[in-house]
Amino acid sequence: MILVLGGTGEARELAAVLTARGEHVVSSLAGRLADPVLPDGEVRVGGFGGVPGLTAWLAGHRPTAVVDATHPFAAGITANAAAACARAATPLLRLQRPGWTPGPGDDWRWVADLAEAAAVVRGTAFLTTGRQGVGAFAALPGRVLVRCVDPPTEPLPPGATLVLARGPFTVADELALMREHAVDVVVSKDSGGHMTAAKLVAARELGIPVVLVRRPPLPAGVPVVGTVAAAVAWLS
Ligand code: NAP
Repeated sequence: MILVLGGTGEARELAAVLTARGEHVVSSLAGRLADPVLPDGEVRVGGFGGVPGLTAWLAGHRPTAVVDATHPFAAGITANAAAACARAATPLLRLQRPGWTPGPGDDWRWVADLAEAAAVVRGTAFLTTGRQGVGAFAALPGRVLVRCVDPPTEPLPPGATLVLARGPFTVADELALMREHAVDVVVSKDSGGHMTAAKLVAARELGIPVVLVRRPPLPAGVPVVGTVAAAVAWLS
């Protein structure tokens, strides 16, 4: 059995490929979304209970390997997976899509975290960083457009406009939304991948800056691959 720590498109893709090959896959979701897109194969939902809980789960279920295919910004579960797999002597692979790189015409400003992003934005900001941590922007003085999948529980800036939507988004969608709300700056995590990259193209076309939050570092000593195909090759 292979445990896939999920919550991403890559995790679903990996579960689909492995299941189609006849592998027993258990995908684990944190349970953050009200209506998640479910992967193929077996699914478990909810936290394990920190490193001790995940270590006990590994000891009880004895997967042949764990693939941590969680989001690049899900640093807590990634650290827990590294610690628990070391304790349980279970092979661990990190599957993480590459980050975005700017091209000609892009005006990107890199910041360390959401607080620094909130400090540098000016004018009408389009926040695409997800509902977790959106409270960092609660005191923004300008107009704010917030887009996430489920409604945030953290406080939003006064007068913020909330758009509930799940990607993928097209460049045309993004251009229309950003024009409608007269967006001056886009705020994003360096999530990478194609599902949510259209906002970066739209920002370039509109000639507006993007504030990008850098990824947290990966745990030392864990092999990393950037594609589902490379993860499948590592597993076999
Ligand atoms: P996190 O801060 O790294 O994790 C916090 C806790 O949530 C973990 O300690 C663990 O609880 C539980 N958890 C997280 N992912 C889990 C999983 N796949 N299966 C079981 N438990 C999990 O995580 P997060 O940033 O809140 O992200 C939660 C989930 O949303 C992840 O699966 C991630 O792939 C997905 N996601 C995150 C983002 C983002 O920007 N952070 C964006 C898109 C999708 P216990 O300690 O109790 O085990």
